[in-house]
Amino acid sequence: MLPELPDIKEIRADFPILSREVYNTPLVYLDNAATTQKPRVVLDAITQAYTTSNANVHRGLHRLSQESTEMLEASRQTVKRFLNASSSSEIIFTKGTTESINLLATSFGERFMHEGDEVIVSEMEHHSNIVPWQLLSERRGIVLRVIPITDDGRLDLDAYKTLFNEKTRIVSVTHVSNVLGTVNPIDEIIRIAHQHEVPVAVDGAQSAPHQFVDVQAMDCDFFAFSAHKVYGPTGVGVLYGKERWLEQMPPYQGGGEMIGRVRFSGTTFNELPYKFEAGTPNYIGNIAAAKALDYVQNLGLDNIRTYEESLVKYAVEGLQEIPDIKIYGQPSSLVSFNLGKIHHSDVGVLLDRLGVAVRTGHHCAEPLMDRLGITGTVRASFSFYNTKHEVDVLLSALRKVISMF
Ligand code: PMP
Repeated sequence: MLPELPDIKEIRADFPILSREVYNTPLVYLDNAATTQKPRVVLDAITQAYTTSNANVHRGLHRLSQESTEMLEASRQTVKRFLNASSSSEIIFTKGTTESINLLATSFGERFMHEGDEVIVSEMEHHSNIVPWQLLSERRGIVLRVIPITDDGRLDLDAYKTLFNEKTRIVSVTHVSNVLGTVNPIDEIIRIAHQHEVPVAVDGAQSAPHQFVDVQAMDCDFFAFSAHKVYGPTGVGVLYGKERWLEQMPPYQGGGEMIGRVRFSGTTFNELPYKFEAGTPNYIGNIAAAKALDYVQNLGLDNIRTYEESLVKYAVEGLQEIPDIKIYGQPSSLVSFNLGKIHHSDVGVLLDRLGVAVRTGHHCAEPLMDRLGITGTVRASFSFYNTKHEVDVLLSALRKVISMF
C-alpha cells in the first residue's frame, strides 16, 4: 500500500494537462525532473495578474504598479518562507537555476577568485554547474577540482576531503543528481567545507520539488532552484545567498533597478536583493511561482517526499524484474536505467507511442555519462500526482518495448 496524499484524484484534477491523451492513450507523464506540470492556481494567477493588475513594478506611482510591486514582494516573502531564509534580501529572482549559477560564478568569481584559485564541483553535476565555472576559468584562470563518484553512484567523500587546499574558494555541488537520483549528504559536505572556511553553493534544482529545504539548518551559503520544476512557470528561478556574501559581491548585470544613483562620473548600486536584479523582472512569473510554492506547502513537503519515495520504490521493484535492465545510482524521485543493448532513444520513442513520456539521453551531464561509460539513459521522474497505476503502465510498456527487439 502506498501512503496517500489527501486525495490523488483531487490532486490530479488540479492539473488540467494530466487529463489529456497522446496517440489516443491517456498521458503518463514521467518527465517531471525536466519540468513539472502546473496546477490551475498557477495558471489562474498568470491570467489574473495580466487581466487585473499588470503594470511594471517598482518604478510606478500609480495604483496598478503599486499592486504589481506588492505582489512581487509578497512572492519574495513566500520564497523566503519556502527556503526558511532569514531575510527576503537573501532571495534573488533569476530566470532559473542556470542563471542563478551563472550569476554566482560570475559575481563571486569576480570578487573572490583569482588565477590559480579553485572551485570544487562533482562528477555528477548538470552542465549548468560545470560550464559557468569553466567560463570563469577561461576569464580568470581558476581551476576546477572534481569530486569523483563511487561505482554505486554516490559522491566519494574521502576523495572530497583531499581536494581542499589553501587555494579552494568555493564548493558548488548538486543536492540531488538529475541522472542518478542520488541524494547527496549535503549537511556533511557543507560541514567539511566550513571546517576549511570554504562556502558551499547547492544546486537545488532536483531537491526543492521533493523535500523540505531549510537553508539555515543546512547552513549552505548559496542555494539555487528553478520554479518550473516546482510546479511554477518557466523563466523563474531563485538564488538564495547569505547576506554577508551577497553584500560583498558585485552586480551581475547592469541596467534599471539595480542602481542607486547613475552619473557619468560613477554609479552606485541598489541594496540587496535589487543589486542583482537588473531590468524588468518576470514579475507575473514570480507571482505565479509563489502560488506553486504555496500549493506544494499546502500538500506538505514531508507528505510529498514519503509518497514519492514509496512510488519510486514500487517502480524500482518492478524494474528490477525486467531482464537485462541496468539501473544507475540511487533512485529517489527519479530512476535512470538502460535495457540491455537497446538504445535509450529507441526506448524513449517507443514509450512515447505507448503514451509514456520519459526523458532519454545524457541529461546535460556528459562528464557523468563518460564516467559511467554510456551515452545516455532512460529516466523516469516522478511527482506526487503520479500513481501506482502509471508505474504499472510504464512497466508493461517496457516489456512491450523489449518484445519488439
Ligand atoms: N541542475 C540540475 C541538477 C538540473 O536537473 C537542472 C535542470 N535539468 C538544472 C540544473 C538547470 O535548470 P534550468 O534549466 O531550469 O536552469
